[in-house]
Amino acid sequence: MAKDNNNNTSPKKPKFSSYWIYGIILVLIIGMQFFSGGSSWQSPPDITPSKLQDYLKDGDVSKIQIITNTRQAKVYLTKEAQQKEVHKDALSKTLIPSTSQIPQYQLKYGDLQNFENDIKKTIDENDLTASVEYEQESNLFGELLLNLLPFILIIGIWIFLMRRMSGGAGGGAGGQIFNIGKSKARLFDEKTDMKVTFKDVAGLEGAKEEVQEIVDFLKNPEKYTSLGGKIPKGALLVGAPGTGKTLLAKAVAGEAKVPFFSLSGSDFVEMFVGVGASRVRDLFKQAKDKSPAIIFIDEIDAIGRARGKNNITGSNDERENTLNQLLTEMDGFGTNTNVIVLAATNRADILDKALMRAGRFDRQIYVDLPDVRERKEIFEVHLRPIKISDNLDLEFLAKQTPGFSGADIANVCNEAALIAARNGRKAVDKQSFLDAVDRIVGGLEKKNKIITPGEKKTIAFHEAGHATVSWMLEHAAPLVKVTIVPRGQSLGAAWYLPEERLIVRPEQMSDEMCATLGGRAAEKVIFDKISTGALSDLEKVTKQARAMVTIYGLNDKVGNLTYYDSSGQTDYNFSKPYSEKTAQLIDQEISKIIEAQYIRAIEILEQNKDKLTELAEHLLEKEVIFKDDLERIFGKRPFTKEEEELQEN
Ligand code: ADP
Ligand code: ZN
Repeated sequence: MAKDNNNNTSPKKPKFSSYWIYGIILVLIIGMQFFSGGSSWQSPPDITPSKLQDYLKDGDVSKIQIITNTRQAKVYLTKEAQQKEVHKDALSKTLIPSTSQIPQYQLKYGDLQNFENDIKKTIDENDLTASVEYEQESNLFGELLLNLLPFILIIGIWIFLMRRMSGGAGGGAGGQIFNIGKSKARLFDEKTDMKVTFKDVAGLEGAKEEVQEIVDFLKNPEKYTSLGGKIPKGALLVGAPGTGKTLLAKAVAGEAKVPFFSLSGSDFVEMFVGVGASRVRDLFKQAKDKSPAIIFIDEIDAIGRARGKNNITGSNDERENTLNQLLTEMDGFGTNTNVIVLAATNRADILDKALMRAGRFDRQIYVDLPDVRERKEIFEVHLRPIKISDNLDLEFLAKQTPGFSGADIANVCNEAALIAARNGRKAVDKQSFLDAVDRIVGGLEKKNKIITPGEKKTIAFHEAGHATVSWMLEHAAPLVKVTIVPRGQSLGAAWYLPEERLIVRPEQMSDEMCATLGGRAAEKVIFDKISTGALSDLEKVTKQARAMVTIYGLNDKVGNLTYYDSSGQTDYNFSKPYSEKTAQLIDQEISKIIEAQYIRAIEILEQNKDKLTELAEHLLEKEVIFKDDLERIFGKRPFTKEEEELQEN
């Protein structure tokens, strides 16, 4: 979205650009040259020393000025001589002939001593009245220039560096030095025909619902504040690149019809100390002036990364200062300010916890990669301006683009239109789209984002395995949603409703571990092959089993003891609190627990192979399935309880 809407960002003010400095210097130089005397302005004609002797002897010379430092002499004629025919030529060349301030001739001499002696001799011999003066000529302009040159150079280099540093390449960047503390936010408002609304955002129903509330707040703040409620100050949009976070934030502004300040987290950070903080201050000031308004900070991880880690050198203070200022501003503005900050990131996990505290970005809105149905809707949005052939099947296109983000789909549509035009088609047809998809896939493959059909099948069975096992076990958390749309690092995901338990029994732990191993077990049962896709499952199970044995004292062989230290003071990195023999025992027990659950999962899946397959096929087609679909396949879960909280697994 790199449209150039820059024009209205700030009221026109006289720009103090560096060109002014160059201009002033130039004027000074010309001025100095003009005032530094006629000598360099207009020089009289040259004569030879012997000519001078001739003129002297004729008695034409009234004064000889010997300039000792430049080996020059200036010759002034008497009033009478100025009338003579021989001098007419010289006189016509000088500007103001009648004054005695300007020499009529000048000459260069070789040796001062000889020159002096010659003149003296002639004057004495002929008994002349001509006088001889000595002078040193200072070339005012030249000296000044020499003195100023270093300064001019330094200033020039400084200006150059400043412009480079503030990234002010491109037109109109003249005033960068003076604007370095200003925020670089781009403003979109009614004037900059930004008409993104929820209609332009396809899919993302959940996210849209959540931001709808923000729209209502902005449209009608009194309604909420009159009852004493507090308007949210910020929301965090979390999702992979290109999933439409910026688009969603713009749509919020468009729906609420409020100005929208957009900038990237990295815009705050500059190599100068204090710039980030001052930009934050400036941004909030601008937004408050235009409130109600939305501030959108893209890639907030650039400034919001967790503080204090690996910070031995004290570097990165600048980023911390910027973050602190941001937090201060968010705390500082009262509920009546009506400025809402939306921030986007694809790594919510690395953000500083302070950002997520109440009154800051206390809402997190997940913007996931679209599933098959959502992809179809995104195609619909982006095909609106494109002339497509009548028989184009959007469903088919959506199926061809697993793992594509909204931005990728927008790209496909554009690319297809270009390909069709290149081939001289009247409308964009299916083949153009397929070619476009191939081309985009080529780009995605490099980013390791693309899923082959075989992989997709494996993922579907893996996730279906989790779902089946957890459905069949009494104590495993029941499932609410499974998807095979990649999400973050994982390839698929299942959401469960965990029970809130204060005490966990061993059988509950076992059931959970069994469900976690269900993914790998399904791969084994169906394909008789296992894959690396179960890494995070294995990590979770191993940790849980270790905790059972070494922390909770739930293992018969190891017994009722714990190696947990609630004071947190002992460091077991170097010395273990148990003997080698116990260590072996612990390892054996952990392995035994896990293997037992794995075998149990396999048994469950063997018995329910048909249902597992049905579920996986359903997943392959729909990419997401919900509790209802599971109930349709498995029948009502015998041990249902009503649970409240959602947890991602
Ligand atoms: P992000 O900020 O998440 O990286 P953007 O909001 O900049 O992604 O999305 C880039 C482009 O992709 C948008 O301008 C839009 O054209 C397209 N796009 C992404 N998601 C959607 C969506 N859900 N519906 C319609 N278009 C989308
Ligand atoms: Zn898994």
